Amino acid sequence: MSDSRIVKYTCPYCGREFEMEIYDTVNAVQEPDLKERCASGDLFKTSCPHCKQDFMVQYPLVYIDQANKFVLWLSTSEHGEIGKITKPLVQNGYRLRRCLTIREFTEKISIFEDGADDVLVELAKYDCFIEFVDNKKGKPEDITSIEYQRYENGLLKINVRTDDQGMSFLIPVSIVEEEMEQDPELYAIRDDEIPVVNDEWIRSLFTESAGQA
Ligand SMILES: [Zn+2]
Repeated sequence: MSDSRIVKYTCPYCGREFEMEIYDTVNAVQEPDLKERCASGDLFKTSCPHCKQDFMVQYPLVYIDQANKFVLWLSTSEHGEIGKITKPLVQNGYRLRRCLTIREFTEKISIFEDGADDVLVELAKYDCFIEFVDNKKGKPEDITSIEYQRYENGLLKINVRTDDQGMSFLIPVSIVEEEMEQDPELYAIRDDEIPVVNDEWIRSLFTESAGQA
């Protein structure tokens, strides 16, 4: 079951208080509507009843998808109740991830629903970044985001966005797999630690290994 509760929230625009429903847990299989609102990020959209301003409110949430066997924990803190239930989940083959932002959270849902490996996706995104910059398509500081689009027929579609345009990449998964096979330990993660697997994490692998060399 999904759990929600009503909390008081102070509007960041007009400073007045209003009541808002927030979810502690969402069960994707039992509640497909909530699942859709998580995948789109709409769950976090709210509107102030006083000044009518729309904005996003991020709060800690545990998202469970039993069909695709993954649990996402949207949380900026690494401390939480979820630590108590990681063991049985890992034993049952679940992938566990912590997401720092709503964007990471929604992207992770689509990666796992598509049946892709998120470590591989982050590496592919990093490769796209390097290619984009090396081919002088733009400077690193021009890039506003690197987004996973989809995984189909062995190809990952990734968009590198800049303010004015950007570029789409189609990356064969087999190429990224070969890259990972060269150093499997580097990319190893532990689900029981509910790791953060994002762009910062993948960059840290290379800056740390460069530092050791
Ligand atoms: Zn307001």
